[in-house]
Amino acid sequence: MKRALSRKYLWDKTPSAVKSGLALILEGIPTSVMLGRRFRENLRFIKQAQWWDIEQCQAYQLAQLQRIGRLANDKCPYYRRIFHQIGFHPAELKQIEDLTALPTIDKQTLRQNLDEMCAVPSSSRGVDYISTGGSSGVPLYFYINASRSAIEYAYLLTSWERAGYRLGMPMAVFRGRVVKPDRAGLRHEYDPLLRHHYYSNYHMTDENMARYLKHVASIGECFLHVYPSSVATLARFINRIGMKAPTNIQGIIAESENVYPDQRKLVEEVFGCRYYSCYGHTEKLVLAAECEYSTDYHVWPTYGYFELLDKEGRPVNTPGQRGEIVGTGFINTVMPFIRYRTGDYATYVGDHCEACGRNHVIIRDLEGRWPSGNLVARDGSYISMTAINVHDDTFARVRQFQFYQNTPGRAVLRLVPAPGFDDSDQRRIHDNLGRKLDGRLTFTIQINDSIPLTPRGKAIYVDQRIPGIESAEVSESQQQTGSS
Ligand SMILES: [Zn+2]
Repeated sequence: MKRALSRKYLWDKTPSAVKSGLALILEGIPTSVMLGRRFRENLRFIKQAQWWDIEQCQAYQLAQLQRIGRLANDKCPYYRRIFHQIGFHPAELKQIEDLTALPTIDKQTLRQNLDEMCAVPSSSRGVDYISTGGSSGVPLYFYINASRSAIEYAYLLTSWERAGYRLGMPMAVFRGRVVKPDRAGLRHEYDPLLRHHYYSNYHMTDENMARYLKHVASIGECFLHVYPSSVATLARFINRIGMKAPTNIQGIIAESENVYPDQRKLVEEVFGCRYYSCYGHTEKLVLAAECEYSTDYHVWPTYGYFELLDKEGRPVNTPGQRGEIVGTGFINTVMPFIRYRTGDYATYVGDHCEACGRNHVIIRDLEGRWPSGNLVARDGSYISMTAINVHDDTFARVRQFQFYQNTPGRAVLRLVPAPGFDDSDQRRIHDNLGRKLDGRLTFTIQINDSIPLTPRGKAIYVDQRIPGIESAEVSESQQQTGSS
């Protein structure tokens, strides 16, 4: 894969032994200094801009849309052609609503027009070639500015601060990084630049989880940075063996998979701290982070332009109504994304938060293209994982689980049992799930030694193989934030 030699890239490629050697030197330097001038400038801007009134937000968004529109028209053959076809010129973009004259695009558009959508030759300096998606499906490739990380990290940091995180605090990361065992056999790696401790969530055996948690307990006041599935596995383990969660964990930041309310509840109970969720994606078009006072997501108005569209492509602005998230990015000037349909869905709440005072669009119940998947009932309707609520104590003595389905109305539930699992667990699972499925779907239990995660270390709750039903793996796309 072609990549610019950005500072971050070089750092990522630095052997961990060298990083550890640098740790002593780096410990004394404030993290904001190490992250560079661009990061600090963005941070200053974002901290101010989050409190803008509606007029300021809209004026900024309009200016950005005009900038991106001109760039697309001047430099990208694809957009110039489309604009010409519909008789649109960026100079006519006088108010934000004028954007709706443009057609939406999707991943198919990208696949068919990749080079023509670029504003600079893709071999230029400062351009990264990025892919999203799992190995079994067709990955999506696109180009983006190598400098995006400094901007992205400033937004994430400002978001995480709402949950109590402070720059420089150690972070214990369980997010799909491939981590080799150290000399003591612990799958742990330390990055002194960001003060991140990485642990392998591909190896969540009881023995390893006990060692991970013991190590996390030794790193001082810290946050967990997790996939919802990886922290749920840790929480179930802690509950099952009756241990106490490390008390130095100040909060949990969960990203890149769907968050299920009962899963959140379980994790908050076990760890005794806030479970804080952010939504974003690799394409860097929309970033939304929870309020400090609720679990509603606030969409950052200066990160990209956010739209919620119904099935007919009409804007959703009625509270309680659901729509697809469509984004126009302000960060990517290598390959502009204008009105990109993300395939992610949310419920509209409003455009102002009474609790915190921010004038941000507020959404909730985010459902992404992440590998969660749906089951298909006997009558062809979908059954979501949220409805089944697989995060109560049903799976208390189960390490991993996954539904396999190739026929509507029938499924196989694959289980990787934890120690102590017996017939009574099988019966409980049958009874509890059977009640929720209410005859719409029947299933048999299959005991497995392991269930593979996606190439990025996420759990797939439904291995969906019914022809014509898009499988979770194929549609996987997610942000790899901070540590990507
Ligand atoms: Zn708020």
